[in-house]
Amino acid sequence: MKRSPIKHCKECGAAVVHRIPDDGDTKLRAVCPACHTIHYENPLNVVGTIPFWEDKVLLCKRNIEPRRGKWTLPAGFMELDETTAEGAARETVEEAGAQFELLGLFSLLNVARVGQVHLFYRARLTSDVFDPGVETMEASLFTQAQIPWDDIAFRTTKETLERFFADRERGHFGVHHIDIG
Ligand code: ZN
Repeated sequence: MKRSPIKHCKECGAAVVHRIPDDGDTKLRAVCPACHTIHYENPLNVVGTIPFWEDKVLLCKRNIEPRRGKWTLPAGFMELDETTAEGAARETVEEAGAQFELLGLFSLLNVARVGQVHLFYRARLTSDVFDPGVETMEASLFTQAQIPWDDIAFRTTKETLERFFADRERGHFGVHHIDIG
């Protein structure tokens, strides 16, 4: 989801104007005409995992918008006080109630259009019993053939899953850099 631009100054609450600051900047910024604060808006990180059990991958059916009812890998926005790996693990606990061992980084996806960077880590499940949180209707394991490919919530999830099964097939997991237009 594309973020809407800032409308009010975070410092003083005045309505901002969008202009290129006079300091040699080249981008439009939300500038406060009252206190002169320049608001720099930068991409957000979305962190998640590919939890796997034997030849299956864990997917969560979303209970929240956007894409309610569609399937996704456990993932969400990184918090300020955590590392990318900690955030990925936290989201996997919150959304799936899964028990796992976190492994290496698997995919880094730039979604420049909406100002996001998505990072997925592999996670080896240590139990096939799940306890999904309120954001998830259902958490289930799928083989490659069982994956509901037409009902995957996000392109970042689909691209990551396709590469995961391809790497699994050849017996070696790489780190994948993907730019989504
Ligand atoms: Zn201000």
